[in-house]
Amino acid sequence: MLKIGDSVREIPELNAAQKRAIKSYGAETVGDLLDMLPRRYDDYSRTVSIGDAPIGQPVTLKVRVESIGKQPGFRRRITIIRASLKDSTGSLRVIWFNQPWLLEKLPAGKEIFLSGTIQFRPKFGRQMSNPIWEPIDSEGVTSGTVAPVYPLMGSVAQKTMRELMARVIENLDEAPDPLPADIRETCGLLTRTDAYKAVHRPRTLGIAEEGRRRLAFDELLVYRLALGSARHEADKAGAPSVSFDERFAKRFVASLPFPLTDDQRRAAWASILDMQQTRPMRRLLQGDVGSGKTVVAAFLMSLTYRAGESAALMAPTEILAKQHGRSLRRFLQETGQAPVLLLTSSEKRLWEGGEEKTLKLHEARERIREGRILVIGTHALLERDMLPPDTALAVVDEQHRFGVTQREALAVAPRPDGLVPHLLSMTATPIPRSLALTLYGDLDVSVIRQKPSGRMEIKTKVLTGADREQAYAAVVAEVKKSHRAFVVCPIIDESDKLGVKSATEEAKRLAAGPLKGLRIGLLHGRMPPADKDGVMQSFAEGLLDVLIATTVVEVGVDVPEATVMLIEGAERFGLAQLHQLRGRVGRSSRVSSCYLLSDADGPALERLKVLERTNDGFVVAEEDLQRRGEGNVLGTEQSGQAVFRAARTSDLDLMAMAGKAADELLNKDTELAQVPELHTLVERVRKTSHQE
Ligand code: ADP
Ligand code: MG
Repeated sequence: MLKIGDSVREIPELNAAQKRAIKSYGAETVGDLLDMLPRRYDDYSRTVSIGDAPIGQPVTLKVRVESIGKQPGFRRRITIIRASLKDSTGSLRVIWFNQPWLLEKLPAGKEIFLSGTIQFRPKFGRQMSNPIWEPIDSEGVTSGTVAPVYPLMGSVAQKTMRELMARVIENLDEAPDPLPADIRETCGLLTRTDAYKAVHRPRTLGIAEEGRRRLAFDELLVYRLALGSARHEADKAGAPSVSFDERFAKRFVASLPFPLTDDQRRAAWASILDMQQTRPMRRLLQGDVGSGKTVVAAFLMSLTYRAGESAALMAPTEILAKQHGRSLRRFLQETGQAPVLLLTSSEKRLWEGGEEKTLKLHEARERIREGRILVIGTHALLERDMLPPDTALAVVDEQHRFGVTQREALAVAPRPDGLVPHLLSMTATPIPRSLALTLYGDLDVSVIRQKPSGRMEIKTKVLTGADREQAYAAVVAEVKKSHRAFVVCPIIDESDKLGVKSATEEAKRLAAGPLKGLRIGLLHGRMPPADKDGVMQSFAEGLLDVLIATTVVEVGVDVPEATVMLIEGAERFGLAQLHQLRGRVGRSSRVSSCYLLSDADGPALERLKVLERTNDGFVVAEEDLQRRGEGNVLGTEQSGQAVFRAARTSDLDLMAMAGKAADELLNKDTELAQVPELHTLVERVRKTSHQE
């Protein structure tokens, strides 16, 4: 029998396809495979007829192949199989890409179950692309009528995954449960082994859901325990009290190029009070894009320097770290000589005593060791000896882009004197309270709701078809007024993870057509940091009119003269992400606009229109959650880390139960010594790091 920790090599009687699948997924142990959860289930007991099938929703149909053939002469490297499928109520066109073998597997007359989403295309009518199918006579694999649908990788077929998982489940041994029995019983959960069986080989959808709930509970519990034990460690260590120099603070605020908003003052004040204590501050600063979080951080950092200690700020990208370096120096100009060190993997640059110089790695380390400095960097800060020994304040910008561990590494890494720094975590992603509690534990929260005064609303428009010309016309018109524009391209195919191809092609197309004659720059993830900087710099200085980019511009980039944001393939982005993207414009008192270009229709188009109606990030976030609703996995975008596979944003009851259980476990035994398996899982979460 198989144990969860066994190597995948122990799984009996695997065929070649199954072995290939294991390899593509990079699974090493039986547990790795079991953690590969189905994306959804096809309930073959509840099929609809072609005539009744709704558009735009996943459906399962029971159909007969009427005709099938290869579409000739399309692009050489793509095979397209077209079929017409029929039931007693009508027929449906289906196309499959790159699956030439279907010609043999699906001869005319064959009866199959077909699952997918019917789309309506004005040119073609109703059609399904790349649906999955199951022969009607196949038995065993689907274990009755509920079949798991796994996320597929490479050329691995759905059937292969199902058969592979079925093989694992058949041979799976009962394993000791990491969860104490009393918690399991109070919360009414399956054992972990039963949960795996339920998820991968359910008899009914209800049982599959029971299994998912147990696995989700574990994820939520372990995450809460990880946060809780980090907090506990920090409290035990204590923090340096940062003394507050009121005269200096007044001078700093007065020297800023703008008055602080009340919300900015309140957030700064709450932090100042926290930082005077010896209990480490753990504060989350939430504020919509453009609300001005950076200056709050800069203020606190310079107060820390004034008090005789160091502060560090970590940003998720190099572009952003550099921008923060510039802002900080601008804000410090009049009040202080605080040295600033910019630290990324490609560059170590120091401003000190009126001089600017590039340092070698060992020089940077030496300077850091001396302390009394403000350090700004990417996750390069987390490398050895990159934090000043007297760091009293650690700031994490766009904290949802980091994993818990990276976040914590800054704050829990003790200084040589054993103390830990105060932590200020900043985010532009506003989330409802129940989720915030789950994801951030007992962080104190400050919210900046007001926008700096004089800001204009960003006029947002969703454009389809020929209307998109309006957007290009707007770009040309703004450039005439010496303003600038962003064009953001989505990632179109999986093999182009960094969006190199899509952005490059779009740049070519626009330069030759609608935006001919404008000075166009290109920015994508594959470019060397120096080139990225160069392009960003040129755009900021006005040497470029238009910046065509992937979502690398999503976070933080601040170019006040940019007044138009054009987003291609907008339906491919989440609402919260679109809101972030559009926040790149509207950063001055100039009128700004955002155009969402899309070929979507129906609900997908309706969703985008939310952004036409509101500029409030909190409203957008709530709508986003509601619309994504039930099936929405608590994803990387909220946690910064792929620790959640089963848990969903709608699992509010599980979040509450897991929170309570975590508190009880930690109160009883802060080291989790009595629950060693859980402890191991917690340590794993705390160690997992999430790279850019
Ligand atoms: P975010 O909260 O998205 O990080 P930033 O800190 O980048 O926003 O601020 C956006 C822009 O607003 C910056 O150019 C910043 O200098 C400016 N800003 C910040 N606070 C104020 C204010 N109180 N009044 C006017 N402009 C401000
Ligand atoms: Mg920011």
